[in-house]
Amino acid sequence: MSYVLDLTCDLIRRRSVTPEDAGCLPLIGGRLVSAGFRVEHLRYGEVDNLWAVHGTAGPTLIFLGHTDVVPSGPEASWQSPPFEPTIRDGRLYGRGAADMKGSVAAMVVALEQFVVAHPDHRGRVGLLLTSDEEGPTNLDGVRKVVEHFRAIGEHIDWCVVGEPSAKEQLGDLVRVGRRGSLSGTLSVRGVQGHVAYPEKALNPIHAFAPALAELAAERWDEGNSDFPPTSFQVSNLNAGTGATNVIPGELKALINFRYCTASRAEDLRARTEAILHRHGLDFALDWNLSGEPFLTPPGGVLRETVVAVCRELCGIDPEQSAGGGTSDGRFIAPMGTEVVEIGPVNATIHKVDECVALQELEQLPQLYRAVCERLLIGA
Ligand SMILES: [Zn+2]
Repeated sequence: MSYVLDLTCDLIRRRSVTPEDAGCLPLIGGRLVSAGFRVEHLRYGEVDNLWAVHGTAGPTLIFLGHTDVVPSGPEASWQSPPFEPTIRDGRLYGRGAADMKGSVAAMVVALEQFVVAHPDHRGRVGLLLTSDEEGPTNLDGVRKVVEHFRAIGEHIDWCVVGEPSAKEQLGDLVRVGRRGSLSGTLSVRGVQGHVAYPEKALNPIHAFAPALAELAAERWDEGNSDFPPTSFQVSNLNAGTGATNVIPGELKALINFRYCTASRAEDLRARTEAILHRHGLDFALDWNLSGEPFLTPPGGVLRETVVAVCRELCGIDPEQSAGGGTSDGRFIAPMGTEVVEIGPVNATIHKVDECVALQELEQLPQLYRAVCERLLIGA
């Protein structure tokens, strides 16, 4: 059995549903200690994080990933048990095979092989793993580790995130940034009353409707060469007492911006509130910024290196995209780090019968190792 397949199977067998780590990080930490890495376990709240580094000074390249997985859903819906790694038709099935225990195993194997082949490489190479990526808040994962890094003056030049990024085959897409996500919980106050006497009430639904039309039609920005325009969506709208003869006293809405680097969160907030004020609404709006957008621009050393490795190893000229949801890269990028995401095909992630192609799994360590060699060997 190959090293990477073996380790991926070992990790899948551990039921590490967020924030449980189920022994994944100690397993990896032990291997990296044996390979000569300095390993620290950073525990915050219920969450285990692992930081391993090799080398003493100079430019620092790290790999970033998570060992936690989303729940499997009903196990009976799976063709083979989700925590029982199973090979069928050239694919490895199991929860986390693609998101992202396969990538994590590939990073570990790549790092082990890299330091054996180049014990005196320049700079530093490291691995940062969390068991809190898939959870709802990510409070005690990479966000906390980055606070710790800032406090001790840790600096990272390049970060490769192993999230499943590919569309149809490894190397066809390199993620070079992510949009920001800004959410709001809006409450519009009216005056409850009898529908027969509207002059004695104030209907918040009627009051909000024209404001909503304006928000939905607003052109927030034009996007830019790397990002599509910022989008605004209402994800929930709620009012009413359940009776047809009562004007409700309050309306609640959940809103979300997926925004690009052409807009700033504070401007989106101010413009939203200005529209609501212009419509004379009595409202409260609680904002939550879950991630700022980031971009590794063309010409960045890491971006160019990863693209070159995809061309050479996978024989593909990768699409370079800043689309998709958010990732833990959003916590690392504000440190001034170049962040690029490259991992396996994401077609089955979070689904039943999640899988990764064996061929992809074998290629991944070679790809990660090639990135290390281009950045930390030679001049
Ligand atoms: Zn993931």
